[in-house]
Order: sequence, then C-alpha cells, then structure tokens
Amino acid sequence: MPTTLTERPLTATDRCDRCGAQAYVRATLLSGAELLFCAHHARKHDTALREAAVSIQDESRRLAGTPATAALDER
Ligand SMILES: [Zn+2]
Repeated sequence: MPTTLTERPLTATDRCDRCGAQAYVRATLLSGAELLFCAHHARKHDTALREAAVSIQDESRRLAGTPATAALDER
C-alpha cells in the first residue's frame, strides 16, 4: 500500500505535545514538523489541524482496543 509520507505506527513512547498522554494522532505540517496529540487534544484542535497539516495519521480508533492496564500506566 503506497503512501507519500513515511507513516510509522504510533507507540506508547509517542506523547501528546499538549499534555504528555499517549499520542494517537500525528499531524505533519507543511514545514515537515510533526505534532503529536492524544485523542482528547486531537479532537480539541481538529479544525486547526485540518487547516495546517498536510497529513494526519489518526490512530485514535485503537483506543477502543486498548487494554485496561494501559490507563493505569498513564497515572
Ligand atoms: Zn493531550
């Protein structure tokens, strides 16, 4: 499956730029800079992101399958 940008799966080491929670959304800007957001902040900045980003990798749907222990890990 060809992609124009190098897509890497988000992992537990990817953290939201705003709050430090695990990131589920990676937004790539025109400049090539990357912003990481948790599901909460991705939703909050959704409109701005869609205007500023050339690519948005959204893995927030994976939240539904996150093991219960992952939440404890955040605290
Ligand atoms: Zn956040």
